[in-house]
Amino acid sequence: MPAFTVLNPSTEQPVAQVEPTSAEAADAAIARAVAAQAAWRNVAPGERAALLRSFADVIDTHIEELAALEVAGSGHPVGQARWEAGNVRDVLRYYSAAPERLCGKQIPVPGGLDVTFQEPVGVVGLIVPWNFPMPILGWGLAPALAAGNPVLAKPAERTPLTAIRIGELALEAGLPEGVFQVLPGKGSVVGQRLVDHPDVRKIVFTGSSEVGREIMAGCARQVKRLTMELGGKSANIVFADCDLEQAAATAPVAAFDNAGQDCCARSRILVQREVYDRFLELLEPAVKGVAVGDPASPDTEMGPLISAEHRARVAAYVPDGAPVAFRGSAPDGTGYWYPPTVLAPVRLDDPAYTEEVFGPVVAVVPFDDEADAVAMANDTPYGLSGSVWTRDVGRAIRVARAVETGNLSVNSHASVRYWTPFGGFKQSGLGRELGPDALDAFTETKNVFIATEL
Ligand code: NDP
Repeated sequence: MPAFTVLNPSTEQPVAQVEPTSAEAADAAIARAVAAQAAWRNVAPGERAALLRSFADVIDTHIEELAALEVAGSGHPVGQARWEAGNVRDVLRYYSAAPERLCGKQIPVPGGLDVTFQEPVGVVGLIVPWNFPMPILGWGLAPALAAGNPVLAKPAERTPLTAIRIGELALEAGLPEGVFQVLPGKGSVVGQRLVDHPDVRKIVFTGSSEVGREIMAGCARQVKRLTMELGGKSANIVFADCDLEQAAATAPVAAFDNAGQDCCARSRILVQREVYDRFLELLEPAVKGVAVGDPASPDTEMGPLISAEHRARVAAYVPDGAPVAFRGSAPDGTGYWYPPTVLAPVRLDDPAYTEEVFGPVVAVVPFDDEADAVAMANDTPYGLSGSVWTRDVGRAIRVARAVETGNLSVNSHASVRYWTPFGGFKQSGLGRELGPDALDAFTETKNVFIATEL
């Protein structure tokens, strides 16, 4: 198979050549993971915890290097890339507290003792997308390792560089060979092999809903465990009684973070009709003020899109004659640039309003009352994140409960913290990552009865 050339999305220049993993090499890696499994699950809990902490420490001393790789290989602004590398460290530290705390239960039964154990699920296949190569790797990797499972990570073909480096750092930190392996290459080859191979006992997938459905069907053939984090079309609901200045000032980051290549992007802004015009007036300077440019500059807030093909896909949602209300700026010339774009007023059947654009395009539409807002927010097959802006506490709670979504913020757009659960309703996913419950996804509960009376 020919080597894949990773391009810098802001310069279109080659950054690195990466040898793709063949199906045969993937099988050999799976065999190594199986061989490493018994020893890894038997590493004493405190020792496994210490290894995860030293892995986190080694990541910590390489934050700048990892961030620079993500700037070059994915076009992420350097401030964001530093946060992403730090997130891998933090998630490893959080789950390094887990091995000694994977407690079972003791359940009262007649004639004996009944106890449960949280057993490792087995070899985990972790299929990672290109939009957040480091955090999404860490979210699967850390709890899987903590629970005693070897991990095979398949980064997206376009963005393998940080995952490959993190794999090297794991060995430097003392993780045994075979416990964490990185297999760059194509989803249709390596990813598919992880799904099909019977020795891989669990798949963690983040990516498009289309591929997610295929993977679910593949896993069903072996009743393989599966966690999925898929697309989103989240609503940012702005009520007339809110702090409108703050809602408008923060709406761009909620929609254009990572150039909109974010499954949590609040790409539909629903605004109560009486403040709709005023909101747009306030939004315009905020959008025009987004600093779009060289990702290596610390002042940059938004970089390029990942590829020329992806930019063409995003641009197709804004054809000639599209209702563009206003736009931010983007550099001319080389690089896969696309300016922050606000569509208003938008028809409710416009694909830019109904589909996941995965680019810096946001639609702003009016609603009349609370029931209308909830119905519009829920009128999508997705349910990943969302925001509600209001000063009415009762309404904030009612709407937060009524919107069918896995993560919701009130007067804020924060959706991701490594110690709180993250995942989607409806077609946005299956299961939860992060937080205290993610370990459940990497363990099987075993019940053991020991008779005390023979
Ligand atoms: P995909 O869903 O195609 O890719 C995600 C990961 O799955 C990649 O590592 C990919 O490998 C792998 N993969 C692809 N096909 C298979 C397969 N048959 N079996 C196993 N693994 C496979 O996302 P795209 O990169 O193509 O993005 C398309 C759209 O998906 C985006 O525009 C966006 O709308 C959505 N998306 C959503 C994400 C989210 O965070 N929710 C993340 C990424 C995309 P490879 O690409 O290397 O071939």
